Amino acid sequence: RSPLASLPPWLRRPIGNASDISTVQKIIKQRQIHTICEEGRCPNRGECYANHTATFLLMGPTCTRACAFCQVDKGHAPMPLDVEEPQKVAESVKLLGLRYVVLTSVARDDLADGGAAWFVATMEAIRQLNLNTQIEVLTPDFWGGRPREGMSSQDGQFHRVKTVVEAKPACYNHNIETVQRLQGVVRRGAQYERSLDVLRFVKELDATIPTKSGLMLGHGETEAEIVAAMADLRAVGCDRLTLGQYMRPSLEHLPVQKYWTPQEFDELGAIAQNLGFTQVRSGPLVRSSYHAGEV
Ligand code: SF4
Ligand code: SF4
Repeated sequence: RSPLASLPPWLRRPIGNASDISTVQKIIKQRQIHTICEEGRCPNRGECYANHTATFLLMGPTCTRACAFCQVDKGHAPMPLDVEEPQKVAESVKLLGLRYVVLTSVARDDLADGGAAWFVATMEAIRQLNLNTQIEVLTPDFWGGRPREGMSSQDGQFHRVKTVVEAKPACYNHNIETVQRLQGVVRRGAQYERSLDVLRFVKELDATIPTKSGLMLGHGETEAEIVAAMADLRAVGCDRLTLGQYMRPSLEHLPVQKYWTPQEFDELGAIAQNLGFTQVRSGPLVRSSYHAGEV
């Protein structure tokens, strides 16, 4: 039985404008670049493309980690970087008339800088061709791989975050994905504190850049645990929050423990607002980049 068969009604939604979707698919495919929108078969594609927003997945579709919820390709060696990728992404942004772009990547623990400079190169290429496009980054934790001579892993992480911060993204996003207790089960290879550090470092380096994080609910977390995670995010100065429902991509991925109702999402969103987040998106179909461009 397909995991979709038993979805609650609020998670079924029309796919959106098929012609918008096929235009994006064509432009992306021709250039052999990748988007999370397509790779993750995001339920919001119709809406986001109509709003001139998309999320590009940089540095190839193969991840060096293996989170149990995530449907990106993993388990074999990642591809060498395509030196033309920054330019191809910039051209696609122009062709699609995107006004707000989210750049993300798989975790490239095999690269010396985790791919930090690649984010910057892509931002620069986009800005050359698209003067008015805003760029949000959604980076990995930049922990893995070998730090430079004489640096600790944490110094290495700090410097990689700094590289990206200096390029002045419109928003710096890094997802903690789930509550503290469930990190090991849901996110293999990541740690709660390391992820909070990413957000802390951004604020230390440049307090004017808004920071953002998100959780996918439905892994068995309690409301108290969610509220504790929100408080931890506020403690490192995180400004924006997304809460969405985890939907099992296939039977090989973690099963859903609970479907939180739209009303529960509203209640959690209200708690987040009371805790001081300036932008809160909370709903079953909310994804990390959902309505990202509307502040
Ligand atoms: Fe793409 Fe994010 Fe929109 Fe989904 S929510 S379609 S991943 S921009
Ligand atoms: Fe997916 Fe990111 Fe985990 Fe890689 S690190 S498996 S891309 S969630």
